[in-house]
Amino acid sequence: MRTCFRCQNEMKEGFEVKVEGGGFGIKIFGGKGVFAKRIEKPRVAICPKCGEISLYIENPDGIESK
Ligand SMILES: [Zn+2]
Repeated sequence: MRTCFRCQNEMKEGFEVKVEGGGFGIKIFGGKGVFAKRIEKPRVAICPKCGEISLYIENPDGIESK
């Protein structure tokens, strides 16, 4: 469960990020260019109380810092 950092309300999780008009999602990479390591598709959590949104990934364990 994720808690809204603004109002401490419970957030709704698991929404996807899409670019409006294109139907494309966004991705997060580590590094640059063709050797970039794809990390994971980000998800969005939304606070139903204040509208705060939070981007997160579901499995952060395998991520190495650069
Ligand atoms: Zn909130």
